[in-house]
Amino acid sequence: MYININDLEKIHFASCDGCLGSCCSSSKFIMAPLILEDIKEVYNHFQIFFASIDNETRLVMILGGKESTCPYFEEDKCSIYEQRPPACKLYPLSPYYDEILINTSCSAVGSLGDIVSQNGKCTDKFYYKRFDNFTTKLSKTKEYINKRRQFQQQVQFPPKLAS
Ligand code: SF4
Ligand code: SF4
Repeated sequence: MYININDLEKIHFASCDGCLGSCCSSSKFIMAPLILEDIKEVYNHFQIFFASIDNETRLVMILGGKESTCPYFEEDKCSIYEQRPPACKLYPLSPYYDEILINTSCSAVGSLGDIVSQNGKCTDKFYYKRFDNFTTKLSKTKEYINKRRQFQQQVQFPPKLAS
């Protein structure tokens, strides 16, 4: 369950030891919204789709299907760890517009370990620049999508041949 860190006085992250990557091996359908700066980080490994979220068209990537785990989860670990997508780097945190959510289903989240956030602010260890102005970043991504769409509408391929 995702909870806004603003609603928590303090929350900790212990460690992934012994978990066997339940965030990667979930058979749930996981769709991660993308912002423009994410594209270069994900396009080599994941397909990028358009999806309608909150009545807006967004760029997203799919981390797993209804009955499959992430394709890069091999032998209980991530086979592209250094190139894993932003959603995985930030997990169990996730930006939601200008709020930050934490997934309390992660077994490391609780009252032990390093402090993730206190009084609604991430500690340095868990702070990512990606969180900053996330709503603005989403808007810029939307502008980009709309411009591309207008361009697609203007350009017809293959061109109509004169009859
Ligand atoms: S982030 Fe949480 S769910 Fe994922 S491997 Fe670590 S402890 Fe497990
Ligand atoms: S890319 Fe790696 S870290 Fe992300 S869900 Fe897949 S296996 Fe897990």
